[in-house]
Amino acid sequence: MTDSTEKPRGVDFVREIVNEHNASGRFGGKVLTRFPPEPNGYLHIGHAKSICLNFGIAKDYGGKCNLRMDDTNPTKEEVEYVESIKNDVRWLGFQWDGMYYASDYFDQLYAWALELIKKGKAYVCDLTGDQIREYRGTLTQPGKNSPYRDRSVEENLALIERMRQGEFPDGSRTLRAKIDMASPNVNLRDPVLYRILHAEHHNTGNKWCIYAMYDWAHGQSDSIERITHSICTLEFENHRPLYEWFIDQLGIHKPQQIEFARLNLTYTVMSKRKLLELVRDKHVAGWDDPRMPTIAGLRRRGYTPESIRNFCAEIGVSKTDSVIGMNVLENAVREDLNKRAPRVMAVLKPIKVVLTNYPAGQVEELDAVNNPEDPSAGSRKVPFSRELYIEQDDFREVPPKKYYRLAPGQEVRLRWAFFIKCHEVIKDPATGEITELHCTYDPETRGGNAPDGRKVQGTIHWVSAAQAQRAEVRLYDHLCKVPDPDDVPQGVDWKTNLNPESLVTVKDALVEPSLTKAATGDRFQFERVGYFCVDTDSQPGALVFNRIVSLKDTWAKIEKKA
Ligand code: ATP
Ligand code: MG
Repeated sequence: MTDSTEKPRGVDFVREIVNEHNASGRFGGKVLTRFPPEPNGYLHIGHAKSICLNFGIAKDYGGKCNLRMDDTNPTKEEVEYVESIKNDVRWLGFQWDGMYYASDYFDQLYAWALELIKKGKAYVCDLTGDQIREYRGTLTQPGKNSPYRDRSVEENLALIERMRQGEFPDGSRTLRAKIDMASPNVNLRDPVLYRILHAEHHNTGNKWCIYAMYDWAHGQSDSIERITHSICTLEFENHRPLYEWFIDQLGIHKPQQIEFARLNLTYTVMSKRKLLELVRDKHVAGWDDPRMPTIAGLRRRGYTPESIRNFCAEIGVSKTDSVIGMNVLENAVREDLNKRAPRVMAVLKPIKVVLTNYPAGQVEELDAVNNPEDPSAGSRKVPFSRELYIEQDDFREVPPKKYYRLAPGQEVRLRWAFFIKCHEVIKDPATGEITELHCTYDPETRGGNAPDGRKVQGTIHWVSAAQAQRAEVRLYDHLCKVPDPDDVPQGVDWKTNLNPESLVTVKDALVEPSLTKAATGDRFQFERVGYFCVDTDSQPGALVFNRIVSLKDTWAKIEKKA
């Protein structure tokens, strides 16, 4: 697949800052960004925004972008996540320059911690977590100094070494920066640099039992890699003074931290913690469940990398938090697939049509255009015969006004085929249910036009009964039933907002025979129904399709209004 569907990007405020730096020569014209996920879950569409921004800027400026695993939290991180992150970044269409781990820098970080201690800028503190919080004060009240704040350099050096050697239990001591307990910025009130945690790390094994906190690891990792622009989300704006304080104390390369608004989407959740909860409690089939807002879920659902990149370009980046409608993401994939997904016919809820004037046993092959939007996509043959299936929804025994599909005495066009007219409705005498529609076809209308110029208002899709393939079709809808699922009263689980109808499985849909050859990941437009993708569960002879997104159903809209 090509990039031909991608739209050009405008200059956002982050690029404006880069332009200023390039003009002033601050980084000597260099641009080096990084995407720094914590490998504690799969990437989601919010991460895609950050990926497009970081890799996109590197690309636009002839710079580089690193992938760095921010792996300072051994109890939550796993190699599976590392692998999935690499896979998802590549699938989105980006290739990193350097691949690093914050854990690569543990030795250097520790050496720098000793340096801070020697400068009298860090101390070992024996307060418990709760006490630290209590001493920290609040937004309106200053904190108070820890009683351990004035330990001598020698004592601090001895204690940090014993911490590192594993002499003390988890949580019993921390190393803290000595900044200002009265700072209006709470982040500067002697933040913790190291905590004791006897846990095995996916990279460093049991070498360490003290682990750097995010703030201590992050900026220094940026500095080691000589990152120029450290792009992060808005909640880190208040951490920027600390980011710069560490770097200034150490006198090392200083990147520019730039904060942008994180992506929020309606009808879903975007925190890894919540997504993990869904996976763990089996509300979904896994991280790649097609209802998940993860990259893996969107990929399995059938989203294209181009559609996600276009979506990110369209929403842009700004400094104010907002919530983007899920329809914007859906439109991005519709727009992309409209241009390149082959059209096929599939009937999800079949009802049989018998053409009483069509010779029994005869089969003819009709030409069907693969994609009216793309002449190079060519055409295919679809078999036509006396017995067909159409959608139950495309027939009404008593048609309402403006219903232009099949009804008794009403003529419609079968897509790529003939005009047909219904003359008899066959019902099960016991239940009264419609079992068959008896119709006549007009042989003069082959290809869909009447030589006498007679018009029909409706065109419906169909499959030929004998050649159609049975398929399972999974109809996906929003993961959550309300636009803002996080908005729950105190004490109420957000999961009460999960949509119980987020997956409706149709076991016996019928698809045209050309789909027998469809392979996992192939995407199609089922004419008049939506865009679908062959799921990873699909097998030859047992096809499984995921609905990526529906088409806009005009009749459903008319009916809703009425
Ligand atoms: P979560 O809260 O979902 O766990 P996180 O910010 O902790 O997200 P990280 O793995 O630390 O996840 O994020 C890696 C990068 O992706 C960071 O630079 C972060 O700012 C960015 N990022 C994460 N979520 C979003 C989002 N919703 N929109 C934009 N960028 C995001
Ligand atoms: Mg994080």
